Order: sequence, then C-alpha cells, then structure tokens
Amino acid sequence: MRRGLVAANWKMNGSRESITELLHGLRQSLDTGAGAQVLVCPPMPYLDLCSRLLQGSRISLGAQNAHEASSGAFTGETAPGMLLDFGVSHVILGHSERRQLFAETDVQVLAKCLAVQAQGMVPVLCVGETLQEREAGQAEAVVARQLDVVLEACELTKLVLAYEPVWAIGTGQTATPEQAQQMHAFIRQRVAVRSGAVAENICILYGGSVNADNAAQLFAQQDIDGGLVGGASLKPAEFIKICKSVSG
Ligand code: PEP
Repeated sequence: MRRGLVAANWKMNGSRESITELLHGLRQSLDTGAGAQVLVCPPMPYLDLCSRLLQGSRISLGAQNAHEASSGAFTGETAPGMLLDFGVSHVILGHSERRQLFAETDVQVLAKCLAVQAQGMVPVLCVGETLQEREAGQAEAVVARQLDVVLEACELTKLVLAYEPVWAIGTGQTATPEQAQQMHAFIRQRVAVRSGAVAENICILYGGSVNADNAAQLFAQQDIDGGLVGGASLKPAEFIKICKSVSG
C-alpha cells in the first residue's frame, strides 16, 4: 500500500507575513492525526523561516529547484547541500515552467536529480506534455523521454514522480481522472520495466489545476498517489481539503 503525498508548490509567491499565516493554518489542521504526507515548497528566501515554523510538525519542507553543482561560480543558484542545511527533504525538479522559461534540458534535470539524491534528498521529478504534443499524439512519447533519462541513472527507491500536463498547469483545465489515470498507469509501467517492486511502491503525483472540488476524484484513481498543487496550495482551507482527500 503506497502512502499518499500532497506537495504544495508555492512558486514565486508569498511574503514573511503571508507564509507565517499560511503555515500556522496548515499546522492547526494537518498536524493533528495521521493522513497523507504533506510537503510545502516555498521560494528559497523563505526556507529558513519555514524550517523554523515547521519545527515539530508532520509537514515536510521541500524546495522548488537546485543546481547540479555542489558549489562554485553560479550566481543566483542554490546547491543541494545548502537546502539540506534547512532540513529540506524533497526537491521539485524538471518543472515545466523551468523547462520552458529557462530551457532546462532532460540531461540537466538528470544531473540535478543525481545531485539531490547524492545529498540524501528525494527529487520530485516533473514530466508532462504540452497541448500541442498531446494533440499530435505524442503525449506518451514525450513523457517517456523525460522519464527514461532519469529512470536509467537514478536510485528509483528515492524518487517521487509527478505527471503534470503542461496544458493543465495554472489554466483551470484539469486532466480528467481518466486521462490522468491513463498516463499514470503508463508511467508506472515504464518504472516496472526496471523493477516491478519499485513500480508497485513508487509515488506518482498528479499536478495541474488540482483544487478542493476535483482532488478526491483524481486521487481515487488506482495509479494516482497524491498531488502536486500550485495555485490552490496558497489557500489554506482549500489546500487542507485537498490533503484530506488523499488516503494516508
Ligand atoms: C504546478 O505548478 O506544479 C501546478 C500544478 O500548478 P497549478 O496547481 O496552479 O496548476
């Protein structure tokens, strides 16, 4: 039985004040009792604040990116070891916004995954096709390409996968539970080619306009183990509802 996970990707949002308030609200509802694992991924400058606000909490701390090098002349970048200093357990890598805006390649994403795993943290590898690729019948081929490069070289037992169709991110246009399940089954099958046991246990999240109204239906699908949530994760009541829609 796989444990559910809900990860909040706050992207480049928040302030000292709003994040303090948000985490206070999340802790009040989510620290009581069991349930799915919950992860919050704030912007880098707030890692220290979040790390302190999450002392003694069952909510884990994640980051939205990491550089592949351990140190050096990379102005503005953050090394995996620096994230570890703040108690970060997971790092979102290969998010489509970074693939598109900063031209991150599959090879670069792999290097980041390896660097993050080398520090004992878990990459949350994002894969997903654009609308154009879906309409051209290439969705599975694109996802397979993004996935395989990482599956071939990374430690599979220390990896979380996230299927995020680009056309569903921040658009309000969620994949139907059937569309999402179909791709999740495909992804799990891709892992099973390497190891059936790992495929059975690996956590595959769905991301793309998840909200309090559609979460339960998505998470009820056999191969959807939780969500990577952007916009809705900034609204405490909505995010708490989403977290409670996943089985623990
Ligand atoms: C995301 O950015 O990972 C995401 C899924 O965003 P949203 O939930 O806003 O679509």
